[in-house]
Amino acid sequence: MEENATVSFAIIGSGIAGMSTALHLSQFGNVVIYTKSQVISGSTPLAQGGIAGVVSKDDTFESHIEDTINAGRGENKRSVVEVLVRNAPQEIQFLRDLGVPFEKEQHLEGGHSFPRISNVKDISGKVIAEVLAFNVLANKNITIQEYADVYHLDAQKKQISYRKKNKKYSVVSDFIIIATGGYSSLYRDSTSPKENMGDGISLAIEAGIKTKDLHKVQFHPTVLNKQRDNKPQLLLTEAIRGFGATIINTEGEQFIDPLLPRDVVAKAIYDEEQRQKSKNCVFLDARKVPNFADHFPFITETLQNEFFLDPQKEVLPITFGAHYCMGGIETNIWGETSCTDIYAVGECANTGVHGENRLASNSLLEGVVFARQIARDIAKKIKNKNRIWHKEREERMICDEVSSDHGISDSYNTIFLQTIRNTLSQYLSIETEKEKKQKNIQIAKDVLWRIRDADTFSFLSQKNKMVFVLVQQLVQDAEDALY
Ligand SMILES: Cc1cc2nc3c(=O)[nH]c(=O)nc-3n(C[C@H](O)[C@H](O)[C@H](O)COP(=O)(O)OP(=O)(O)OC[C@H]3O[C@@H](n4cnc5c(N)ncnc54)[C@H](O)[C@@H]3O)c2cc1C
Repeated sequence: MEENATVSFAIIGSGIAGMSTALHLSQFGNVVIYTKSQVISGSTPLAQGGIAGVVSKDDTFESHIEDTINAGRGENKRSVVEVLVRNAPQEIQFLRDLGVPFEKEQHLEGGHSFPRISNVKDISGKVIAEVLAFNVLANKNITIQEYADVYHLDAQKKQISYRKKNKKYSVVSDFIIIATGGYSSLYRDSTSPKENMGDGISLAIEAGIKTKDLHKVQFHPTVLNKQRDNKPQLLLTEAIRGFGATIINTEGEQFIDPLLPRDVVAKAIYDEEQRQKSKNCVFLDARKVPNFADHFPFITETLQNEFFLDPQKEVLPITFGAHYCMGGIETNIWGETSCTDIYAVGECANTGVHGENRLASNSLLEGVVFARQIARDIAKKIKNKNRIWHKEREERMICDEVSSDHGISDSYNTIFLQTIRNTLSQYLSIETEKEKKQKNIQIAKDVLWRIRDADTFSFLSQKNKMVFVLVQQLVQDAEDALY
């Protein structure tokens, strides 16, 4: 039997966006973070390059704004870009004050016209995630529910349901914040952790909350062209190119300026692969990068230990991979979704800040800037004396219903995901020519129809049905964008 527990703030996801929001909201009431696996999870700990923001006196907000809008091909919402860029110094300082030991010098990345990336070697995300987790765990007003996989959102009741250790629970909350990251791992070649399947976006679609531009996925141009079991492909950060690495083909020709925005570089690699009819014809040449191992210790170690590659002695095989999702749950500058008191933040949100293409190192920044925007908005709401809310209530554990995904065939679910990953990678990646796009979208739609119509659809796990909902919307958005 289910009974409702209540909390002031239910946050789904513990990346930079979820944890930063939790820290801000903890001053107002009890916060519970529900996260699918461990507290340090999602894309945040994988971030290598760092976080963008004007720190040097020689740099300007106007320049960061212009770079962001240039990368976004002018499709960004300027007012949102202003919020992002002008709040960046304060948020970088916020992370420093929490304990992130950013290096003294900022570095340069593709698409930026000034060295404005604050970093901690090539493990910026890992250090940020650890520092945030430390502060969250030490905060008495924040509870973390690890291995709590949220599978349902009732927007009217403000209720979320999650599974934990084969039990199901439901919680009603005054405010719900979705911070579940992106869905890049739905593509075959991807830099994102397998758990980032867009759950929060599927929950939103099912709950009738507006999403936007799900077809807008950013492909990172320099992903090591080698697959790993249950791990994302290794990203070779833009910063390597900032230190002078070049991109070459099998003839040793530098066919693209490596410091152009990542969508331009990724498209050039896609074209080169099409021209050579091969997935194995592009390389990153980092042999002349001075002191590679000092700047990129994590990458050096991973290349050597897992792939037996030495970046100072040999060129590295690369391809492009799904890396970041510009599309997501539509929000305004306060993180509000189309449903009152339900917010979205971080990569799962679409604020309009990135336009067609996110500028490197603007996404950690987005997580931390819009976390505070949400707190500002909620502060205004709860100061309204007519508003009744549950500041003092504690979460109570409830329902003891045993969870089961009803006799699913594991192999069918595996095949389903493989089909989705191959379909998205092959038909909804970098192609820009309209006619080819039309043809590709039709093929993807046919695949989805066949999956939907098959008797086996009912054997899909609940999670994979959520994936299906998201992919259907993604294909629809891609088609709508054509006309
Ligand atoms: C390899 C790599 C390198 C990158 N480098 C950089 C960089 O240098 N600079 C930069 O700015 N950006 C970088 N990015 C992008 C950046 O890391 C992400 O956009 C950002 O970390 C997203 O943060 P987030 O909090 O929105 O989501 P995430 O960090 O992805 O966190 C999502 C959270 O939601 C949880 N979750 C998901 N579904 C559920 C569910 N159903 N129930 C409960 N919990 C759920 C996950 O477990 C996780 O805790 C990089 C990304 C990758 C993959």
